[in-house]
Amino acid sequence: MRLSRDKCAFVRAVLHAHSTESDGLLEPQRVVEYYASRGYGVVALTDHERITRIRVKEPLVIPGAELARDRGLLGEPYHLVILGVEDEAVLRMKDPQEVVDFARSSSGVVVVAHPHWSGLTVSDLLSLKGYSAIEIFNTGCEVEVSKGYAVAHWDALLSKGVRVWGVAVDDAHRYTIPPIDADGGWVVLCLRELSTDEVLRALKEGRFYSSTGPDVIEADLSDSSFEVALRGARRIYLISRNGKGFSVDSDVVEWIYRDRNRALAMLSRYGDVELEAEHEGTFTKLYVRISGVRVELRSRGRWIEWVRVMGLDWDSYARIEVVDELGRRAWLNPLFR
Ligand SMILES: [Zn+2]
Ligand SMILES: [Zn+2]
Repeated sequence: MRLSRDKCAFVRAVLHAHSTESDGLLEPQRVVEYYASRGYGVVALTDHERITRIRVKEPLVIPGAELARDRGLLGEPYHLVILGVEDEAVLRMKDPQEVVDFARSSSGVVVVAHPHWSGLTVSDLLSLKGYSAIEIFNTGCEVEVSKGYAVAHWDALLSKGVRVWGVAVDDAHRYTIPPIDADGGWVVLCLRELSTDEVLRALKEGRFYSSTGPDVIEADLSDSSFEVALRGARRIYLISRNGKGFSVDSDVVEWIYRDRNRALAMLSRYGDVELEAEHEGTFTKLYVRISGVRVELRSRGRWIEWVRVMGLDWDSYARIEVVDELGRRAWLNPLFR
């Protein structure tokens, strides 16, 4: 998977937002203006049980809705965010699987909203088929009841071989009234043109990353290597099945630079090691090889700016996650074996 500014435009999108057409506090036009003023190029209005339509020139508004259907094992309904579906027949469907199938057959995209807040179990998520993504971060659920994250659900699905993307969203209702539930989680789509069809294609193909803060400048992920350029990153993680993976932050880089012999001794517990660290202008460059795995990294001060990992033996899926100094995160979509 490649996210590159040479190939496409990086466009920030909000995929879950409510207006006065359901229980949001801003009128649809104000919702769109709110996001446009914060640099969003794509806005999905996803009112409860209705498709809100609005005509604006910019940003691109894609039709959406949020439907509560059926119940999971813990007795709470699935909330399904459907994007790009114009046909109101979907609003009358009672069965969540029917909603997903209909949305897909209409070229739409289905996202399972806030699994943690909804009390959905991994079994519930496994029993529904064909959705494109789950919300791994939901600003509203986080600021109101600390149930915004569903990264554990995501890793469980990925470990079971389900090819599903992770999206960060707002689910905004209050906007400017504290606790503020807007502009806290978004996706950055890699778009070849600004159209609804292209947004839906990018969402289906996983051609985006999700964030609550850090920026991904470029990412090139393949079976054999991962290369990522970042802004605002303090730590980067590589995550795979069963706890396989690692993290690197600037403290690790400085430790290797200052205490190379000790680092060599520590890391040699994991295999045959090669280590190089050097300051070059304002950068620190690091090269680590542990057995067949090679990591190259460039940091500046406390910031990790570029990482390349080669030769990693990962199992079923691998993904990259980034943290900034305030604990905000960015998530790249996984690669599958
Ligand atoms: Zn909901
Ligand atoms: Zn909602």
